[in-house]
Formats: sequence, C-alpha cells, structure tokens
Amino acid sequence: MNPQGKKAIIIGSGIAGLSSAARLASQGFEVSVFEKNDFFGGKLALHVQDGFSFDMGPSIFTQPFVLGDLFSFCGKRFEDYFQYQNLTVNTHNFFNDGTEIIAYKGKDNFVTEVRNKLHIDTTRLESYLLEAERMYNDIGKIFLDEHIHDLKTWTTARIPKALKALKWQYLLKSMHDYHTDKLQHPKLVQMFDRFATYNGSNPYEAPAMLSMIAHLEMNEGAYYPQGGMISIPNAVHQLCKDVGVQFHFNSKVERIITEQDEAVGIVANGKTHYADVIVTNSDVFFTYNDLLADKEKGEQIQQMERSTSAMIFYWGINKEYKQLGLHNLFFSDNYKEEFDYVSKLKQPYHDPTIYINITSKMEAQHAPAGCENWFVFVNKPAVIDANEDEVTAIIKQHTVAKLSRMLGEDVAQHIVTEHTLTPTSIQSRTNSYLGALYGTSSNNRMAAFKRHSNISSRYKGLYFAGGSVHPGGGIPLCLRSAKLAVEKILAD
Ligand SMILES: Cc1cc2nc3c(=O)[nH]c(=O)nc-3n(C[C@H](O)[C@H](O)[C@H](O)COP(=O)(O)OP(=O)(O)OC[C@H]3O[C@@H](n4cnc5c(N)ncnc54)[C@H](O)[C@@H]3O)c2cc1C
Repeated sequence: MNPQGKKAIIIGSGIAGLSSAARLASQGFEVSVFEKNDFFGGKLALHVQDGFSFDMGPSIFTQPFVLGDLFSFCGKRFEDYFQYQNLTVNTHNFFNDGTEIIAYKGKDNFVTEVRNKLHIDTTRLESYLLEAERMYNDIGKIFLDEHIHDLKTWTTARIPKALKALKWQYLLKSMHDYHTDKLQHPKLVQMFDRFATYNGSNPYEAPAMLSMIAHLEMNEGAYYPQGGMISIPNAVHQLCKDVGVQFHFNSKVERIITEQDEAVGIVANGKTHYADVIVTNSDVFFTYNDLLADKEKGEQIQQMERSTSAMIFYWGINKEYKQLGLHNLFFSDNYKEEFDYVSKLKQPYHDPTIYINITSKMEAQHAPAGCENWFVFVNKPAVIDANEDEVTAIIKQHTVAKLSRMLGEDVAQHIVTEHTLTPTSIQSRTNSYLGALYGTSSNNRMAAFKRHSNISSRYKGLYFAGGSVHPGGGIPLCLRSAKLAVEKILAD
C-alpha cells in the first residue's frame, strides 16, 4: 500500500495504540487516534493524591531498545525524548523466615549473593541462567518478533536452529517442575516461578518455556525511566504529535463500520469517520463482541483463559523504610496454595506474595519529605466479583498483616492516603476484559498460536495491536505488536 494520503484510525491510546499511530504517521498516513478517556497511555497512567505521585500500572521496565526502535523507525533520536538509567539492583526479595536476597544486576553479583545467603553451590543456578538466555535467543525471539501465524515464517532459516534448541521438557514440564528440577532450592524455585506472573500466568500450569522471561530481568536487567513509567507514554505521545498524529479524547468508539467484510470506518460520539486502515488497540474480546457485534467470534475469545488480574493499593506512607528499594517482594509461605486462589477462584490466600514499588527511592519529589509512595500489588484472578468491596477488604487485611509481620511494626498506622485499583476498575478504565493485565494467559502450551494475530482474517483493513493480541502483554511485547501490525499494513 502506498501510504501517502491514506487515512488510518487507531482505536485506543494504550502504548501499542500510540506506537502504531506514530509508526503509520511517519510513513505518510493521516492518522487519527480515538481514545475513550481524557488521557493517553491506557494502563500506563499516573495517579497524584495528597502530594504523592504513583505510576498506576506497569513498574518494571525491561528491553528499552524495543522502545528505542520505535523512535528510529520514525526518524527521531530516542535520547531527545526519553532518558532512563540502568539499575544495579533488580529486586529486594524477602522471605517469611527473615532471609533477604538482593537480586543484583549481572549474573556474577547475583550468584555471589545467593551463595552468601543460601549457602549453596550455585553451579545449577548459573547453568539455569545460561539456558534461559539460550532459550530466549534461539526460540523466544521467534515468538516475539515474528508473524507466527504466517506459514512462511516457519520456512525461514531460523527455524531449524530453534527446533534444535527445543527440548521436550520446555513444553511438557510445567515451569514449576522445571525449576524444581533445575534449581532445587525452594527459595530459588519460588523466586524464578514468579516470572510466570510477568505475563499473568500460573507457574504450576505454564510450560517450562516461559522460564526464558527470567532472562530479560536477571541477565539483561531492569531499567528505570527518568520521571517514572509515565515518561514512556509521554515520550511516545510527543513523538506522535511531532509526526502529525491527531488525537480525539473523550471519544469512545462505539462501532466499527464494515462493508462486505471490509472495515471502512468507525462511529464515535455519534459521528462516522472513514479510513483506509483501522488498528484496534482495544481488548480483542470487546473489539469483536461490541465494536463488530460479532458474537460468535466474541464467544470463541471468551472461552480462552484470561491472564491474572491484580489488586493494587496506592499508599502514601509517612515514613521511610531504609531496608526497601525500588522493587520489593514479600513471598508467600505456600506459592502453590496462593496460585490455587489466583487461578481457581478459591478464597483469597491468607499469606499472599506482595510486590511493592517505591519510585520515591529514585525521585524524592514523588512523595513529601520523609515519606514514601508505595504501589502495593497482589495477584488476583481476572474476575469481576459481585462482592468486590468485601474481597478487597479481605486482601487488604492479609496484606497489612503480612507486611506488618515482616517489617516488624504495624504498617497501617503509617498509611496517610490510599487509592485502590481492582479488576472492575481496570476493566472500566482501559476496557480490559475482566481486568486481565495481559490479555489471555500463557498457561496453555498452544497459547502463543491461539492468541489473536495482528490482522483480522475476517475483516479486510482491520489490524490489532496491544496486550490481548500477538505477541502478548507487557510493554516490550505491546511495542512489538504495534511494529508487527504496521509491518502487515505496509505489506498489504
Ligand atoms: C497494575 C498493572 C501492572 C503491570 N505491570 C507491568 C510491568 O511491570 N511491566 C510491564 O511491561 N507491563 C506491566 N503491565 C502490563 C502493561 O501495562 C500492559 O500490557 C500494556 O500497558 C497494555 O498496553 P495496550 O497497548 O494493550 O493498551 P492498554 O493500556 O490496555 O490501553 C488500551 C486503551 O484503549 C482505550 N480503548 C479501549 N477501547 C476503546 C474504545 N472502544 N474507544 C476508545 N478507546 C478505547 C482504553 O481507554 C485505553 O486507553 C501491568 C499492567 C497493570 C494494569
């Protein structure tokens, strides 16, 4: 397609919607973004309350080069829009028995820390980390960077290498069984099982192949964007403006107009807008079910297991905890039972794994003097509970009790302001079906193939970008989904 003068409409301004818009505009398309909210960024949003600033959604930033690639594709210098720094410590990991393991950046430092704290031979850990790297390079990259739903992808030269690297246990064993076999020490198994949650999966069900996720943080490392995570959508929004993208906020797309199985426009705020190309950044379920009124396809997608959701408490804390860092984890006493709740809808687990992100450790202005901004995250099933207020109160009670026990004082007395995000509010804020953080789960061995591709096989001119479609959720993957969708558009 010669893009000059062609019109493109983007539904939604999540990170994948913004990136698709910038990529298309840089190639000559006239691009309009329709966003139901009065702000851009979707899950990547900022919440300011009583002098505390909170990044509302993502907090862990990996693979900055994927973001950099967007700017170079658009002919701009990444560093003119965005600054970030390398972290020397990825996470502080606290266990119920008082053990603290600092996950230092760099294999050597981390391995030394594990040797010192757990008093074990770390040969197995070192070989595990190497294998995760090989798995990612030889196999993972194909699933993240390629159009895996296209037959011709499977005839390229990279495939024989990937097949050679593939071991039966990567598919047949669960991540947890693989970790038990490889790492043996229960604390290491728990630390590495947690990486399943980076795409909303359950380590007791997800295939061992997902252990490559650990490579991204433990080998490549985590980064911190200057200004916090909100700097990511801010930078991409500025890029969009610089390449001529038009924005329509408070503009919920109610319908995609189709003519003989071709998507030709949208209806928003009662007005019709026509385009040559439509990219939907809305959850794939809502795109089919609501925007296309294609109930049959909607039902098919509904049958697929969702990724996990979460309960997030944003707490202003009137104290500084010196033992905490930017990313902190307080592990549960029984991860298996916790995941029985997270994926099988039993009662909230009494001793949940808690993740706390504190950006005031990096940027003092994110909290008043002597205070900290805590983003307190607990895994939760993607369901809209009829008694959500009750469930929220139970999870808060468990969370406060656990943190108070592990930090040695009643943390509740230090909470001076609070805001809460639940599956219901995640769904209503960002149209994410059942509040799932990462679209569909990757528990199934065929999940990557079952996830919707970046192009519609039913409606010509309709493309998909975002966490609910290929290659999945999380910022680096959403950025890739925009790249893949735009590649398809340009090829068509
Ligand atoms: C609490 C939380 C923690 C997370 N932690 C991490 C993390 O640490 N690291 C990481 O990489 N990822 C993390 N994620 C996942 C990551 O945030 C998402 O995968 C990613 O931001 C999704 O981007 P997206 O492009 O799919 O769009 P979304 O952010 O889902 O946004 C979609 C946008 O489309 C708009 N929209 C939808 N339907 C319509 C319509 N009909 N009309 C107009 N507009 C519409 C919505 O309003 C929204 O603005 C987390 C997510 C959450 C919620």
